[in-house]
Amino acid sequence: MRMMRTSFLAHSQDHHWRYSSLSPSPRRPVIAGNWKMYKTLADTEAFFAALGPHLSGVTQCDIVIAPPFTALRRAAELANEIGIAVSAQDLHWEREGAFTGAISAGMIRDAGCRHTLIGHSERRQLFGETDESVNKKIRAALLAGLGPIVCIGETLAEREGGQTEAVLERQLTQGLSGLTEDEFSPIMIAYEPVWAIGTGRTATPEIAQQAHAYIRQGIGRLVSDGAAEKARILYGGSVKPDNIRGLMAQPDLDGALVGGASLDANSFAAIIRYERSEAQ
Ligand code: PEP
Repeated sequence: MRMMRTSFLAHSQDHHWRYSSLSPSPRRPVIAGNWKMYKTLADTEAFFAALGPHLSGVTQCDIVIAPPFTALRRAAELANEIGIAVSAQDLHWEREGAFTGAISAGMIRDAGCRHTLIGHSERRQLFGETDESVNKKIRAALLAGLGPIVCIGETLAEREGGQTEAVLERQLTQGLSGLTEDEFSPIMIAYEPVWAIGTGRTATPEIAQQAHAYIRQGIGRLVSDGAAEKARILYGGSVKPDNIRGLMAQPDLDGALVGGASLDANSFAAIIRYERSEAQ
């Protein structure tokens, strides 16, 4: 079982967050895969056929796969057979209407999904996603019964310019604006520094921990201390079988959002089974 380390975090502003010393983490880990614009239906079937046998005896974490829209329904059927969940990668905030090319939260739920990514940096950088649209999408997802996985993170220029905390603060404040504690409870946050996505350049466990602790403090300020303690915060950015263990050892890191390494069933399974490889 992962234990929280003793940690009395220095706090900006007036909110004081502290962890109890060496109490068991109340948060169940999550390993999620984001397939981006990869995999046909045949590829999806082959992936699930290959992943299934790796999962026997795996009970220590929740597993989520986010395929492209075209594979959602089939993936949801196959995922159900092996006890894991499926997520969309994006959605439109309206329930229905004249929005050519868009997919609503209800349609995603209807396809058998339990989650949706929201605000991935590729959506922010390439498709005009804003903190305001992230907020609208979170509300739409919650209304449809989907658990949002909300992605935030700074660019390299922002990190080098000392803007990391300001960027995270803005993305959290505007993205989560107006949510009650109950509304927040199904939400997971994925901290994905843009400079680490698809670059092979992972954040060190220490850098990731610093950002995760800051995000948890932010949730405490914006929602409540209880919400912050329960919030599952995933790290994303070049997670691989050989770096997952160091990341997961961090007290505020509750799982991973995996892009490239989730495309191959063997490497995704090795990430899921990181605790077992440690024991061997
Ligand atoms: C992602 O797409 O969310 C991601 C983290 O990608 P990668 O693991 O390939 O860096």
